[in-house]
This record gives sequence, C-alpha cells and structure tokens, in this order.
Amino acid sequence: MSKILYIDMDSVLVNFQSGIERLELEERIAYKDDLDDVPGIFALMDPVEDAIESYHNLAGRFDTYVLSTAPWNNPSAWSDKLHWVKKHLGAPAHKRLILTHHKNLNIGDYLIDDRLANGAGFFTGEHIRFATEQYPDWKSVMIYLNGKEH
Ligand SMILES: [Mg+2]
Repeated sequence: MSKILYIDMDSVLVNFQSGIERLELEERIAYKDDLDDVPGIFALMDPVEDAIESYHNLAGRFDTYVLSTAPWNNPSAWSDKLHWVKKHLGAPAHKRLILTHHKNLNIGDYLIDDRLANGAGFFTGEHIRFATEQYPDWKSVMIYLNGKEH
C-alpha cells in the first residue's frame, strides 16, 4: 500500500501573495489586516514555483491529499479552494481535498506544510516544514521524498 501524503495549500501549493497583488486598491485597504477574508481572493492565486509538477509526480507515487484550512469568516474561500484544486491539479486531486481546522486528525505518513497552525504541529506522521532552511522550495522537498520508500 502506498504511503499517505498530505500537502498544504497556502504558501506550499498556492502563492498567496499573487492573489493580494491582484486585489483592487480599495479591497486592500478595506481588508488590510484580514486579507484572507477578501471574497474571491483564493481564486486569484497562482501556484508556487514547481508545485504543480511536484504534485503530479507525488500523486503518482503516494496516496496524496490536499490538506488545507479555509478561513471561518470567508465562506467563498471554501469554494475558491475547490475551484483552485480542480483548475490547477485536475484529475489526480479528484475528491482528494480536505478542508479542516484540525489537520492532526488526519492519519498519514507525511505532511508538507509551512506552518504549525490548525493542527499541523500535532500531525502524528512526519512534518516536512516547507519554506524553511531545510526545505526552502519544492526542489528540496522532491530530493528528500525521492529518497523515501513510497
Ligand atoms: Mg500554509
């Protein structure tokens, strides 16, 4: 059986900053301290460099799921994230999107996540902490996982 791999969205698959840059100035000002609450913002975001190719490679080798949190006060983010996954990840991600504030409740072998929030810090498998000195980008993550049994 393949090992189970979870991959976070924001700042791992999704370039959050690219969505902010596409906002109207009025929206940026109105939501200054709560940019993840802007309606529709999650649909505007580009993928992180090498994320799509890496996802497709990993989805062929691991039992792979997208594991993300959508803001409680931004209902459109929940549907935007589904749209983003369908648009950018396609068939390999079909029905493999999990939105939760309790990532630790998902049992598995690996979690690629840039943060400890929303349960990521309590994940019972191995947390590959993205955007750190050890794993600054997808290339470094792929080198690490290529050396693993799957
Ligand atoms: Mg994240």
